[in-house]
Amino acid sequence: MRSLILTRILPPNGSYRAAHGVEGCGASSREAAWSGVSETTQRTVTARWVVPLTSLRDSLRTKRFAALRCVRGSVTALGWQDTYKDQVKATALRKSIPICTFLVLLLPACSLFSPEPVSSSFETMGTGATLTLAGKESSKLSGAADKTKQLMQDLNAELSVYRADSAVSRLNAVAGVRPLEVPEHTRRLFELSKVYGELTSGAFDVTIGPVVDLWRPVKGQTPSLPTDDALTEALARVDFRQIQLMDGAAFLARRGMRVDLGGIGKGYAVDLAWRECRNLAVRNFMFDLGGNVRVSGESESGLAWSIAIRNPFDRSATLARIEMPDDWAVATSGQYERFIEIEGRRYGHIVDPRTGYPAAGLAGVTILAPNATMADALSTGLFVLGPKRSIPIVKKTGAEAVFIPDKQPAELWVTPGIRSKLTVLIPAKVQVLPGW
Ligand code: ADP
Ligand code: MG
Repeated sequence: MRSLILTRILPPNGSYRAAHGVEGCGASSREAAWSGVSETTQRTVTARWVVPLTSLRDSLRTKRFAALRCVRGSVTALGWQDTYKDQVKATALRKSIPICTFLVLLLPACSLFSPEPVSSSFETMGTGATLTLAGKESSKLSGAADKTKQLMQDLNAELSVYRADSAVSRLNAVAGVRPLEVPEHTRRLFELSKVYGELTSGAFDVTIGPVVDLWRPVKGQTPSLPTDDALTEALARVDFRQIQLMDGAAFLARRGMRVDLGGIGKGYAVDLAWRECRNLAVRNFMFDLGGNVRVSGESESGLAWSIAIRNPFDRSATLARIEMPDDWAVATSGQYERFIEIEGRRYGHIVDPRTGYPAAGLAGVTILAPNATMADALSTGLFVLGPKRSIPIVKKTGAEAVFIPDKQPAELWVTPGIRSKLTVLIPAKVQVLPGW
């Protein structure tokens, strides 16, 4: 909360009624937004503050949240939101130019003179989802949010490996025994997973389930490294080519095989939600599902939507901002959020199917692609492959990429097409992907 410091102060007695409370919105789900009506000017103001998701939850829990007011692209005031739905009080203001400058850089799209975006957030597929609409289409928000939420819930009921009754779990249970009818989305996802499996020469493999399980923490047990025997045995059950698809059914050809769509399912879900919004005649929006984002049209003031990449070395900070091409999607993979600590070392949740060990060498990979399924699958697969072996794939698909090597000081290795769309917010060297 030390960032509750700004250069100027709200009008005396200035306070704001929260219109939407605190919601994930804007550049990524890690960006919190508050929108309210100024009691002094009766104008709507939108406030955004970049916080790690965990801190945001903490903030909500303690019912205190910082709000920033932006006026014509510059931050002018800040207050506390003392209760979730009540007033934001203009208190505790002190001077700090560097922080303010940083935030101004993050907020160029905010303006009082154009309708502010509106957003709706909900929990689904084990993460947070946010639908943000440009203000001019605000009346469509609740209808579109209800529809997308329902879609996500239905999809989760098909795909989740945490639900014994999901289509994927039921298929896993009869691996090597018999084929099983699978619903349309599950089947389509298997097809796409096989395509990305081939494309990445098996670095992306949705049958990685048995190996991923060896790296999951078990409640009540001290985490330990899997034995070589356990890894060899699990790896023998990994091969996406053994997913056989037939009319309306699927067959996992080896006993003990287990599909885990964690590396592609959220991207697919984002594409579904995106299409649904377009079908509902919503044109200018952004949909974010746990950092898998797809945009459509323009944000307020006719500006392109932009997204933030979190700094993998400092989860509370933003590393860069990317202006999104229209209709495109973005996804980031890294080992810094989900990992297991064994004997003081961290092991991430993305596993290299060649070794059975968590992939290493990169701190993060961000992929921009024409659709979210591709962005999600490639971000996971290229994280495993590393920058050099990813280049032919990036060229073939037309995707754009940012690789962040796992070393400090931070460097960004980028595809040439992304350079002009990238604003780096910390001191970091930016260079074209070596070997491009
Ligand atoms: P997140 O789901 O955290 O946003 P990713 O999209 O990179 O991150 O997906 C990571 C998930 O993908 C893992 O939790 C696991 O379920 C699955 N996974 C791990 N390794 C692989 C792999 N080599 N190929 C395909 N899926 C993988
Ligand atoms: Mg992924």
